[in-house]
Amino acid sequence: MQEQSKYKKLIESTADKLILVVENSGKIKYAEGNFSSYQIDNNYFLEKNISDVILDKESPFTQPLLNQVNQEVIALLKRENSERLSVHLKIKFDLNEQLYVFFIRPTNAHHTEKEGLEQLKEFYENLLNNLPVDVVVFSDCHKYLYINKIALSDEKKRNWIIGKTDEEYAMKYNLSESHIQGRKETFKKVIQTGNLIQYEEEFEGRQPDGSSKWVLRHFKPIYNSKSEIDFVLGFGLDISDRKKAELETLKNLEKQTELNQLKNKFVSTISHEFRTPLATIKGSIDLLQIAFEKYQINNHKIVHYIDTINNEVYNLNNLLNEVLMIGRHDINQTPVCFTKDNLFRFVENIIVQNYSYLTNRKINLIAKSPIDDIEFDPKLMFHVITNILSNAVKYSQLDIVISVFQDKDETNIHVEDFGIGIPESEQPQLFNSFYRASNSSNYQGSGLGLVIVKNFIELHHGKIEVVSKLNIGTLFKISLPNFQQSVD
Ligand code: ADP
Repeated sequence: MQEQSKYKKLIESTADKLILVVENSGKIKYAEGNFSSYQIDNNYFLEKNISDVILDKESPFTQPLLNQVNQEVIALLKRENSERLSVHLKIKFDLNEQLYVFFIRPTNAHHTEKEGLEQLKEFYENLLNNLPVDVVVFSDCHKYLYINKIALSDEKKRNWIIGKTDEEYAMKYNLSESHIQGRKETFKKVIQTGNLIQYEEEFEGRQPDGSSKWVLRHFKPIYNSKSEIDFVLGFGLDISDRKKAELETLKNLEKQTELNQLKNKFVSTISHEFRTPLATIKGSIDLLQIAFEKYQINNHKIVHYIDTINNEVYNLNNLLNEVLMIGRHDINQTPVCFTKDNLFRFVENIIVQNYSYLTNRKINLIAKSPIDDIEFDPKLMFHVITNILSNAVKYSQLDIVISVFQDKDETNIHVEDFGIGIPESEQPQLFNSFYRASNSSNYQGSGLGLVIVKNFIELHHGKIEVVSKLNIGTLFKISLPNFQQSVD
């Protein structure tokens, strides 16, 4: 009895919720405490062997249970219904009585209310200090109520700042007058509007390399039950790296635009400069030809050279035209002028006027549906059709088929040839400037035609696709909307 009151006293003076007194043999002699919230009756323990109620947690105890005196371990307490409860366990040995005393408390229980609050505080502080974000709590008059470690790492400064206004802080850390005013204004806006405000704040020269530190800030007013602003929660994220990358990209973009402008200017100047001497060469060749005819000079070699010069002048002229067109398109200066016309008749006229020289093969034009007038730019579309058709003529020897058909939304033009085809792996690059397929090196060309074609079709809000098989043939599919809703 005397023992019992001694142990009862013990439980009053200790924060542990359960005390088990155990004999050397392991038998539980006495149980005192309050585990009732876990539905355990103290009688349940009496006369049981300690190792039947206290189990090791995950791995077996490092030593027999009764040898773990004076160590705090986590163990499992087996309840009547065999359920296990995780507990802190400390064993002491009572020398006088030659008895073991087991001090037990559940792992999730707090010692006292005060300790509980302390633990809770520690938990939240730990959380706030480990968030990778500045966290600050302001009173509605912009005074610091809380600041976490990420926002201010120095503990002294953290203690100093509590109760100070943001202006006091900003002055102490030498922010410029305009910067301080900016912070004040933003905070005022949060209080006035009652809304969350997000903004990017720059701290000039605050990085070790002398560049700016950037913080993405949020001010969020927090309301009490009377719908008044209780305090303002501020959180900020260091976005210096992102900002640096953004500025770098912007700078590169500006540089790229500048270079593009320079390139376009250079290309158009050079192209213009080439035109005059080319015209002179062409004129001189024409005069030579007239002279040869007049004096009836009919030397095969001379005729061949003149043909070659004429051909090259023609090709060079084409190339210059294409380069100029691309340059103009790059700086969005291609004028687009839509008129309503019948695309089938338009294609027919092009064939009659430009391809009647093809005597040994045919270009078969088929209308696969009734064709109504649609809106298109005749100048640009002339270029599109002649380019695709000239390629079909150039890269094949057999007849060519052009079919035109229409539904209520689109008009389609398909140009099909049965020539050299395009290797499948190279087809995705066809619409890149200067790209020529590997099997076309024996044919004259610049690799610019399709780029222009695609650009012009896009100015019509249309599409172009290619289907081709090596040594079988190629089909270019163009589709244009019947109505141009917006003219870019
Ligand atoms: P090019 O002036 O070289 O013909 P294009 O831009 O018009 O330039 O065409 C790009 C490349 O696409 C050509 O060099 C050629 O390899 C391939 N190509 C275009 N049309 C055909 C076609 N009908 N048959 C085979 N290859 C073609």
